Amino acid sequence: MMVVMTPGAGESQIQAVVSKLETTGVHVLVMPGKLTTAIGAIGDPERVLELGLEGMAGVDRVVPISRPYKLASSELAHHEPTRLEIAGRRVGGGDTFCLIAGPCTVESREQTLAVAWTVRKAGASMLRGGAFKPRTSPFAFKGLGLEGLKVLAEARAETGLPVVTELLDVADADVVGEHADVIQIGARNMQNYALLEIAGQLGKPVLLKRGLSSTVDELLMAADYVLKEGNEAVMLCERGIRTFEVATRFTLDILAVPWLKLHTHLPVIVDPSHAAGDRRLVEPAACAAAAAGADGVIVEVHEDPEAALCDGPQAVYGRDFAAFAKRVGAHAAIAGRVLA
Ligand code: PEP
Ligand code: MN
Repeated sequence: MMVVMTPGAGESQIQAVVSKLETTGVHVLVMPGKLTTAIGAIGDPERVLELGLEGMAGVDRVVPISRPYKLASSELAHHEPTRLEIAGRRVGGGDTFCLIAGPCTVESREQTLAVAWTVRKAGASMLRGGAFKPRTSPFAFKGLGLEGLKVLAEARAETGLPVVTELLDVADADVVGEHADVIQIGARNMQNYALLEIAGQLGKPVLLKRGLSSTVDELLMAADYVLKEGNEAVMLCERGIRTFEVATRFTLDILAVPWLKLHTHLPVIVDPSHAAGDRRLVEPAACAAAAAGADGVIVEVHEDPEAALCDGPQAVYGRDFAAFAKRVGAHAAIAGRVLA
């Protein structure tokens, strides 16, 4: 941490800050400048923050030097990108691109198996599908629950595709953990810290979606909640954020992809479907994500979107998905990646 004094701060005020800092055991370094004095505090930043130095006479501001996220950061122990292996599929590491695809929601056995085969034949590496759905309206279809998880397990057994599905509530942790290959934490739960800790304890990879109105720093601190449980297998997911722009469902923060690649070692996945809200925009967004260096995309696909119980307008038609996958794969190749 760095404590910047006001230009008029006197020697006694500087000394008072130094004495207070020393009570925490941090290493203190006074750096007099032409106009102001800065005081460096090297050590535990949390303890320095707790001192409330901003309220002391002569203090202008207290500035953090290191990043607030520790385990997700690429600046400390982890410089190399993390490579995950999920049922034989490689995610992260910089040379592969994963295509996760499937319905928004498991509606029936037939619907899920049909779309699972479609995406598998088109080269998808994982199947997505919600059994427990977070819905804005409490009266909307909330998913089939355990029955939906069983359908997903059957789809995995038939197609060999590992399953990505959302854990919505701590109460369902065991049953979701048993059925899923990857635990999805939805955007609305990114800051549900109790759920993040439980997800970290399930021993399965976690796909953590960025909150609707969360910064990338907050996303990485949320990832730290999972990582601190000893679970190193975390994928970050940019899925669009809320801005003043309402033409698209959310605003896809495409620059979050290279920014995250710079600041974290974790794989970065993009969800173009929920950002776009309109299937005509999903492919360009997926191609942009691939070209920007994402480690994969997670896309909603439905054989009959007009009949879908959730998110039909953004679902790519099953019949279009092979061509979609090909074009997105070509953009991943621009970024030096192969579909895996
Ligand atoms: C989903 O992937 O089905 C979903 C609800 O996404 P999000 O949490 O990003 O809204
Ligand atoms: Mn959806």
